[in-house]
Amino acid sequence: MRSAASEMTPLPKLPTSKFSRLAFATLFCEQSHMPDPLVFTGGLASTNAYLLDLNGHLLAIDAPEGFLDFLRKKKLKPNSLLLTHGHWDHIWDAADLAEWAGCPVYYHPDTAFLCTEPDSMLSFGLPQRLRPIQATQLLDDSSPPPSFWPNAQLLHVPGHCLGSLCLYLPNSGQLFGGDVLFADGVGRWDLPGGSRELLLNGIREKIFTLPPSTIVYPGHGPATTVDREKSSNLFLQT
Ligand SMILES: [Zn+2]
Repeated sequence: MRSAASEMTPLPKLPTSKFSRLAFATLFCEQSHMPDPLVFTGGLASTNAYLLDLNGHLLAIDAPEGFLDFLRKKKLKPNSLLLTHGHWDHIWDAADLAEWAGCPVYYHPDTAFLCTEPDSMLSFGLPQRLRPIQATQLLDDSSPPPSFWPNAQLLHVPGHCLGSLCLYLPNSGQLFGGDVLFADGVGRWDLPGGSRELLLNGIREKIFTLPPSTIVYPGHGPATTVDREKSSNLFLQT
């Protein structure tokens, strides 16, 4: 039996602080290649949101509680918002953020029900009523993402949530995975629409086939790499 503690691979050194100063500094300084994303962690579930600079186009990924205030203070208006899935901790600020920024909103059709009817999550942990968030456009992995996300690829990896989308940027080797794959963990599969088999198979088929050095920026916890999780994530050892 493997020992989780003794065989755990150290996490790579990546920007994981609440407000990553390094990421913020590089956001506007290194336009020629993909800088590190700006990371925000907030809300009851310590949910990560990211702000990426895609050649001057600011893409926000997820919208936990507090993200809008953070962006307002920094005077950073996203040009688009991608919701990896519709669970409440990821869409908390979404409607207000989109309204403030005047930006389009994207998510997968299979998570539209949660986004447009957040009261449906009162049965599994939603602590207060949230504003519904409508998609400007529904996205799946069979059609190309918006042209202002150059070279981006979408991966649909259900199992934590029916409509979980991951955003893969092959040029910079970055994956924004939502609650699919974590450092030493995977998304819970016991919520409505969840499936352990779908989740683990999806990770093996769609994420573990990416280059090993791909950095995974998850919806909770620190960033990791495909290589690290492939070799030491106990949920995915066969
Ligand atoms: Zn979450």
